[in-house]
Amino acid sequence: MTTTCAASFCSNSRYLAKKHNIDIIFHKFPSEPVLLRKWILFCKQEDKWTPSKNHILCSSHFVKDDYQLINSPSKENKKTFKKLKPVGKPLLSV
Ligand SMILES: [Zn+2]
Repeated sequence: MTTTCAASFCSNSRYLAKKHNIDIIFHKFPSEPVLLRKWILFCKQEDKWTPSKNHILCSSHFVKDDYQLINSPSKENKKTFKKLKPVGKPLLSV
């Protein structure tokens, strides 16, 4: 299981986020081919690199507008959480 952001220039990981209590979330790569291509280009990995289903990209590469707020389906837990819109593509670099 990969726990580090797939962008070659980014070192965010689930471990660091948890350890330092950083407010970032991680996203799986999209299955839609055009969008997937944009995510792959963004990662600046070596040629022909393709993400596996375990690869993730962290939320620091997305802007606020890429997210929609979702109400938690749980009645006990009234939290809202951020969900990446289906068209969300990474724009920002660290
Ligand atoms: Zn990242």
